[in-house]
Amino acid sequence: MKEWSKNNEFNSFNSWKGLLYADWYEAVLKGEFKPPVEASLDPIHQCNLLCEHCNAHGYLTNRKLKDRRMPDDHLINLVKFLGNWGVKAICFGGGGEPTLHTKLAEVIQLTTSIGMEASVATNGTLFNDNLINSLKLCRWVGISVDAATPKTYIIGRNEDLFKIAVNNMASLVKKVKRTKSNCDVAYKFLIFDYKLLCASSYALMVKFIFVLIQD
Ligand code: SF4
Repeated sequence: MKEWSKNNEFNSFNSWKGLLYADWYEAVLKGEFKPPVEASLDPIHQCNLLCEHCNAHGYLTNRKLKDRRMPDDHLINLVKFLGNWGVKAICFGGGGEPTLHTKLAEVIQLTTSIGMEASVATNGTLFNDNLINSLKLCRWVGISVDAATPKTYIIGRNEDLFKIAVNNMASLVKKVKRTKSNCDVAYKFLIFDYKLLCASSYALMVKFIFVLIQD
């Protein structure tokens, strides 16, 4: 996707999008503070992967911790509170893998039903039909694959879930196309030294996904 084009000036990845919120900056200059444009919620501090490069690695290393999950009622009430306050969008991400929270599908629906936009940053390995039905309501879903081959995926992620992540991404893209949703689905790829060679495979992978999503 082009970051800036006449046909798609307000896409989620446009670096200039902050200029749309001049009123918020002007309010700050007057000493007033409007509701945040977007809230980022981390519903759970657990992950099914243990990537060395994770910025939350320091506190995700103990897989047995069960209490690192926002209670269901707190998460639901928080979404309602943010909507009433005037927040325009919520990004569900982590410090953890948000799709591990069993209420994620429900709170995405709640977020959109009360007039906010939703987005999700995920590793894409835990999708099911119910979650995909909610994810398609999002304005964007970023899927961090961080590899273009199973080999380099395992180096970074310590698990062999590359095909699952790619197939889940293809399922979501198919659902978005079929339902004519305006959800942007992004294949996210961090570059590390061991992936430099892999980066050249990235274009091939994108082509492969394009083939996968053709009906
Ligand atoms: S998948 Fe994401 S949240 Fe999970 S350990 Fe890896 S980088 Fe961290």
